[in-house]
Amino acid sequence: MVQKSEQYSDATTTFAFVDGHPFSIIPGETILSFLKRHKGENLVPTLCDAPNLDPFGACRVCSVEVALEPDGRRKTMASCHTPIAEGQHIFPSSPAIQDLRKNIIELVLTDHPLDCLTCEVNGNCELQTVAAQVGIRDVRYPEGETHLHREKDLSHPYMTSDLSKCINCYRCVRACDEVQGEFVLSMAGRGFDAKIVKGIDQSFMDSDCVSCGACSQACPTSAISDIFQSKAITATETTRTICTYCGVGCNLEVSTTNGEVVSIRAPYDAEVNQGHTCLKGRYAFKFYDHPDRLTSPLIKRDGVFEKATWDEAYDYIANKLTNYKAEFGPDYIAGISSSRCTNEENYLMQKFIRAVIGTNNIDGCARVCHSPTALGMQRTFGTGAATNSIQDLQHTNCIMVIGANPTDAHPVTGAKLKQFSMKQDNVSIVIDPRRTELARYADYHLALRPGTNVAVLNMMMHYILKEGLADTSFIESRTEGFDDFKQHLLQLDIDQMETISGVDRALVRAAAIAYASAPNAMSFHGLGVTEHSQGTFAVMQIADLAMLTGNIGRPGVGVNPLRGQNNVQGAADMGVQPHQGAGYLDVTNPEINQQYNDFYGVTVPTHIGYKIPEMFDAALEGKLKAIWIIGEDVVQTDPNTQKVIKALEATDLVIVQELFMTETAKYADVVLPGASFLEKSGTFTNGERRVQAVRQVVAPLPGTKPDGQIIVDIMNRLGYNQPDYTPDGMLEEISQIVPFFAGIRWDELDINGKQWPVAPDGTDTQILHQTEFKRGLGYFEFNAFEESKEITSHGKDYPYILTTNRELEHYNCGAMTRRTGNGEILKSDYLMIHPEDAATNLINEGDYVCLESPRGKVDVKARITDEVNPGVLSTTFHFPEIMVNNITSDIHDSEAMCPEYKVVAVRIRKSKGKFKVG
Ligand code: SF4
Repeated sequence: MVQKSEQYSDATTTFAFVDGHPFSIIPGETILSFLKRHKGENLVPTLCDAPNLDPFGACRVCSVEVALEPDGRRKTMASCHTPIAEGQHIFPSSPAIQDLRKNIIELVLTDHPLDCLTCEVNGNCELQTVAAQVGIRDVRYPEGETHLHREKDLSHPYMTSDLSKCINCYRCVRACDEVQGEFVLSMAGRGFDAKIVKGIDQSFMDSDCVSCGACSQACPTSAISDIFQSKAITATETTRTICTYCGVGCNLEVSTTNGEVVSIRAPYDAEVNQGHTCLKGRYAFKFYDHPDRLTSPLIKRDGVFEKATWDEAYDYIANKLTNYKAEFGPDYIAGISSSRCTNEENYLMQKFIRAVIGTNNIDGCARVCHSPTALGMQRTFGTGAATNSIQDLQHTNCIMVIGANPTDAHPVTGAKLKQFSMKQDNVSIVIDPRRTELARYADYHLALRPGTNVAVLNMMMHYILKEGLADTSFIESRTEGFDDFKQHLLQLDIDQMETISGVDRALVRAAAIAYASAPNAMSFHGLGVTEHSQGTFAVMQIADLAMLTGNIGRPGVGVNPLRGQNNVQGAADMGVQPHQGAGYLDVTNPEINQQYNDFYGVTVPTHIGYKIPEMFDAALEGKLKAIWIIGEDVVQTDPNTQKVIKALEATDLVIVQELFMTETAKYADVVLPGASFLEKSGTFTNGERRVQAVRQVVAPLPGTKPDGQIIVDIMNRLGYNQPDYTPDGMLEEISQIVPFFAGIRWDELDINGKQWPVAPDGTDTQILHQTEFKRGLGYFEFNAFEESKEITSHGKDYPYILTTNRELEHYNCGAMTRRTGNGEILKSDYLMIHPEDAATNLINEGDYVCLESPRGKVDVKARITDEVNPGVLSTTFHFPEIMVNNITSDIHDSEAMCPEYKVVAVRIRKSKGKFKVG
């Protein structure tokens, strides 16, 4: 007997009925999600539905019968996109519905190869599953014309398609649109001729596909797949871990068979990436067992590397370090730790340098990327980390992206920002010299001259004040230093700033008003802000802009640096910097020093150590005898390559811990073969302060060791009693000294990790500065624009400005990505040059251009594009063959010493031949 609906409604809960039984409904949910919630995932079969896509209603396999009364007239409706309503009666498996589903699948199968036994997705094909579920035993329809002859597309290093297996469900098209926002896939033709096309009916390789794999993961059959056959059931084990590339921190499900990684997919329940990745995370993993991997310690004797045992290498290092320490003192030794490594490994490395060697000469790659972010935000707010989370995009109305190209450098976040920018009522502002992909969708693109962020940000704040758009109540209650700041801003010489920046004042004013008028505005910044001589000041201004408009301390606002390497946030958190120990505690403070002394059981130094550029200077001055570099290719990626090489040559003992024989490793005296992220456990902290578990997937390659264990081994050789590396043991130690890790425990890190600060009871923090800043009041400090010394000293003779950028396919020095299929997609660095500049210098597309700076010259192939303005050039430094850093300068940020990669004075000419080093 079916129940009357009015019996099942109260003030707070409403109900609908399934086969006569009442179940609660959630306002806004679809019939399908209602049925899944109450009756399990498998009651209603689906084909065109997918967890990370909007409801579509194309296949009708999910149809159910719906009536308003128990015995009323039933209508057949697609459950995936029909909202449930109070009192409705749903019949999900009536005989009529079962017939309908069977009929639909039979029709699909009339045009589908029935080669299940040899198909790559046999056993994991959604069509196969649904066919079994609805009871297909026969196809009753006569054979007619089919699409079974369609050719496979095997053009791409990763993506494949076999459209004879396509069931026209549109999942791939929707994944490309809704998840990645790339619009490469579409349905062309009508009726029987309808088919999925890539671009303008091209191959994957020729199309604009960004190889994110969203379509492959979405496809219910093997019509679109990848070379790893990631949907095949060949894996014996699946391990969840975190991507090793960028600071987005995507979760990965890694499949293995017989101890070998076979494929990677993206879990749908990950808060960070919700079933999505970019091509680096999903496909660029084959570096891990590449034949180039270092598999034995090496010691250089008479200029030649010789294989050594671990014991020989450890003894060699321990003897040398002991002697240098005794003869010259601990400050003649330095360490560079790695953002590729786990928090635990970074913690150990700084502990080794401080507690075992006895110096604060420890630094990391943040020095050359986001050190100005950490410093600038610490000065303004008290905490040098992102204030909010990426999921706050759901709560914001306006984004300002400055000095960042996230669709290439932070692709999963970039895709979200792109989706945000495309929506009509949202406002997006891009401040960047290049017309990046996001700039094409932006409401306001401020294409400033490289190096003038401070000028433009000051102009924006000037207009906000002039227009009366400052949030006075926030300023009065939460900040200090405003009056002086305001006076300077109101006196700003707008004529001069407009000329300096090259951005029309009306455009700056309009963007400023848009940011200040939005109910909620979020900013995102990258290395285009920090890698400048005024990097720290620009970060402080972004923070000032947020305080000026009250955009701090609630969902959908804040200052959100897009961190570069996967664990660059964590490395700094763990104390990989010369002025602050683990937990950002001031090494010069006597009370804190005592705390460290007590904890480490030895006396640690109180004077600030060398930053990376200072290490190289010290080496050249004969004040550095030994340096231990983990996972950083400083020769290729640090500025002024020739100076870096000279510094390494001047250092008696160079220890390099690496996966490959990088450009830096070539200058080592001892090489230690470390392990990749797939071969060890620990935690990475992403750009949202989210500490996530990195789980060992495969055993370290024979001959290699996890980096943490190597550091522990050497600590013990030098007489410090450090227990063996285990992720839980190390986290336990860290939680006792890093205040904001107090409540982090290895076995309590669930699938989405925890965002620090984490209280002792395990409560984490999504949004910082909600009621007060870490430093108490937020601090306004005015800083005037100053032209870079690079321009004032060399601009006349070297009239073009070269700025550097990153490409989607490669990561940093490219040591990992160049050893994967990504190397077939992008094979070399290239130079972006405006058509006018190309014409002036008689340069054609693909010509080698000689770029000459005061440091030297390199040749790079030209790509003529209006993505850059006249007078501005842009290139990457992923390839050692080019070595662009031969010409970058070691001018650095006045505060944090981050090098100014983004402003290089150069002159150009068409090259006669290819220079390597000038
Ligand atoms: Fe990895 Fe970043 Fe790509 Fe995510 S967006 S898969 S973290 S490189």
